[in-house]
Amino acid sequence: MPKTQAQNEILNYIKQHKAIPIDEFMRIAVKHYYANNEPFGEQGDFITSPEISQMFGEMIGIWCIQTWRKLKLEKFSLVEIGGGKGLLMKDLLRATKHDKVFNDNLDKIYMVETSERLKQIQQQEVNDERGCWVDHIDQVPEGNLLVIANEFFDALPIKQYKKIGESWKEIVVVDKDDKLSFALDNHVVDIHDKDILETSLESLEYAKCIAKKLVHGAMLIIDYGYLKKPNASTLQAVKNHKFHDVLKDIGNADITAHVDFAALIEVFNELGFENHITTQGDFLLDQGIGIRAKKLIENVAKEKVIMNQLNRLVHPEQMGELFKVLEVAKENK
Ligand code: SAH
Repeated sequence: MPKTQAQNEILNYIKQHKAIPIDEFMRIAVKHYYANNEPFGEQGDFITSPEISQMFGEMIGIWCIQTWRKLKLEKFSLVEIGGGKGLLMKDLLRATKHDKVFNDNLDKIYMVETSERLKQIQQQEVNDERGCWVDHIDQVPEGNLLVIANEFFDALPIKQYKKIGESWKEIVVVDKDDKLSFALDNHVVDIHDKDILETSLESLEYAKCIAKKLVHGAMLIIDYGYLKKPNASTLQAVKNHKFHDVLKDIGNADITAHVDFAALIEVFNELGFENHITTQGDFLLDQGIGIRAKKLIENVAKEKVIMNQLNRLVHPEQMGELFKVLEVAKENK
């Protein structure tokens, strides 16, 4: 099998440093993946909530209006980080269009995105003159903001450590007899063993950057993740809607890790934010997704389709429970 560009970059890194840590590995794999592949939808590798149903972006739109009123934000900007194909923002903007005061106060729409390919798709989908495309939250001015990130943090690199006796050693990837394997120092390890600790320094740094920009406002972080460390690896690759070997066909499969919500909450807490965490199911039901589904059925009559979408988004055995919604907010005191 020919080597992918991501694989060559990883092999080069290994040549220079003997091994590559998981975070560097993920950074290279994720960058190539989003730059060159079509991740989303039936034809792609996985399906995200905005792809399942327009109701998802609509419910977030309702949250935006409610939060904007509650926090008395007045003039503000909307920010979405890692917007994929731009569907969430498109649905959000359509659902909030009728609120003239909210819209008159909506100054800019910042889409933070590193993939040039996705930026272009987003520009077509969002199609709003207030839209600004940037690579990093650093480029968004500080101020009154409402920030959304759906399945963004799971794409940020993690480091992994494994307990050997009383000490923790970092897990790396090495090139052993022309084959990539997980290793600790010079020992090959099974990363599906217990006693694995994960941390995502990059997520925490990113969260701090967001917090700095959020002088007054709120953020919604939606992702699959945990509050209690799982003591096992959550690193996973997905291709064509199936789990895939992390070390194979690198850059052509989606690589993610579960999000450590407790660590994110700690960052925002320390910086003076209020926080509230719930499940995706409860969040969407509280926002009134049931009523919206009923209305859509009345209007377009595709009862089976809409009930199926609703089920996928909120049912505990589907995305309802594994996916969490963390809301953080800061008042301008
Ligand atoms: N929110 C979308 C897409 C989720 S996939 C949805 O729900 O459908 C992850 C998104 O994050 C992609 O758009 C990817 O290009 C983007 N991304 C990955 N790493 C990023 C980074 N470091 N900075 C900004 N965007 C990033």
